Amino acid sequence: MKKVRSFSLRTYVIGIVLLSMIITLAVTIGTGYQVSKQILLSSKLKDNYSYAAKLAKAADMHLNTLQWRISLTSQLLADHLDDPDFINKTLENALLRNDGIINSILVADASGLVIAAPTQQGEIVGQQLRSEAARKALEEQKELISTPFQALTGRLVISISAPIVGRENRYSGFISGTIYLEESNVLSNLLEEHSFSDGSYVYVVDSAGNLLYHPDSSRIGEQVSSNPVVRAVMEGNNGFMRTTNTKGADMLAGYAALPSSRWGIIVQSPTEIVDPLVKQFIKNSLVYIIPFFFILLLLGWWLARVLSAPLLHLAKYAERLSRGDVDQPVPDLSIKYYEVSELHQAMLYAVRFLSKRVHDLKNEAQTDTLTGLLNRRSMNNWVQESMEKEMPFSIIIMDIDHFKKVNDTYGHQMGDAVLKFLAEFLQKEAGEDNICCRFGGEEFVMLLSQTDIYTAKTAAERLRRKLAHTICPTGGQITLSLGVAVYPDTAGDFPSLLAHADKALYRAKRNGRNCTVTAC
Ligand code: GH3
Ligand code: MG
Ligand code: MG
Repeated sequence: MKKVRSFSLRTYVIGIVLLSMIITLAVTIGTGYQVSKQILLSSKLKDNYSYAAKLAKAADMHLNTLQWRISLTSQLLADHLDDPDFINKTLENALLRNDGIINSILVADASGLVIAAPTQQGEIVGQQLRSEAARKALEEQKELISTPFQALTGRLVISISAPIVGRENRYSGFISGTIYLEESNVLSNLLEEHSFSDGSYVYVVDSAGNLLYHPDSSRIGEQVSSNPVVRAVMEGNNGFMRTTNTKGADMLAGYAALPSSRWGIIVQSPTEIVDPLVKQFIKNSLVYIIPFFFILLLLGWWLARVLSAPLLHLAKYAERLSRGDVDQPVPDLSIKYYEVSELHQAMLYAVRFLSKRVHDLKNEAQTDTLTGLLNRRSMNNWVQESMEKEMPFSIIIMDIDHFKKVNDTYGHQMGDAVLKFLAEFLQKEAGEDNICCRFGGEEFVMLLSQTDIYTAKTAAERLRRKLAHTICPTGGQITLSLGVAVYPDTAGDFPSLLAHADKALYRAKRNGRNCTVTAC
């Protein structure tokens, strides 16, 4: 049968431990990556929102101040519109010198004609304002913040205007402060103060979704209300969301609306800025996890080794048994748990039973069942061994005289008893180095190690005489006829030696029985 290559339990257990640890490590890292990324994304979104809210608060404050100043100045000018010097002086003093929040200022009369514009060096004085912002200011006659529009100077601007109402509530025109959107202005000053190095940026939209400020100045004035973040902020909402910018990049946007103007400030960061942080987090985690990983692996290996050791001992022992090596005792085990203990017990019983069977079979194969003496096969082995060692020996072959009579007179059972009695007698008489065998029915052989023919004959005679004077189970005596031969003097091989000894026995019978004859 083809032997299937099999691994040890230890290999399997260590393999499973290693595999499960690698899977656990992979799942931990994967989950850690996802969770930390989510946490960082959400934290960045919230950061952007709080930053947008802070900027919105500051911008709102600036706008309110500006509106308040323009309104205050309009009141100062109300009754002096016919005094250009006063107008210019008031405008310069009240606004420009104070804080420079706005880039330019002008005063228009009730028909929209510019009557003063101190920062424009008079270029536009006398011109008719035709912008949507001017039209609205004249029409609505109230404080307004315009959407971006092209000013008379060709600049993209927004205006913050307040009506000039004279005595008896007479509408006399309006004062308009403008912010140049494409040049350095209050917004750019405020927003560029905090520059980002990670790809984040800020932009501002007005209530109609027009870009008032954007780091890419070419986009200022662009309509971006299709952007969901812009739409959210136009509705006056504050918050954050993950979105895609116009270039298709994944962005984390925080947004806040300015309560007074309904403008919105949006702070956006590319989603990928969290990647290096996540990688760093994973690296830091691995520094802690890897040593534990190896400690656990070592522990698993040690445990697998300890638990599988008794099984390995038993398996190796079973392997030796299967090769026929039954003489080794079952190994003693230092660690026993239920399964091992049961296996060990079962093996002990099985091996004990097996050794007894083997021992019995060996005995059966070597001895005669009736008398317990060695059989012919054992005799042959003994002879072969002696001949190989070139050790001389003698053979005494003996046959009970008139044994048939014993059977006939006392029965077969008594005959058996006599055979057993003779076997015991011979066994007692044989020395340590000699052996006795049952050769046939009532024929026996004694092999005497390292003896010459005379010693052997003396021994045979002593046996014969002693037996003739010993009471046997029948209550009487039995006698023996004996033939003696010696190796290598009588014959150099066992069959010839036997034949010579047998012939000597035959002669002893012929000589009248109860005597010993040596082979010639
Ligand atoms: P001799 O002196 O010529 O040897 O006479 P004998 O009667 O012993 O010779 P023989 O060979 O004719 O008879 C041997 C008898 O031994 C025949 C047989 O029944 C008996 N015998 C052989 N084996 C056994 C045995 O195992 N048990 C018993 N009870 N008798 C046996
Ligand atoms: Mg016989
Ligand atoms: Mg006989």
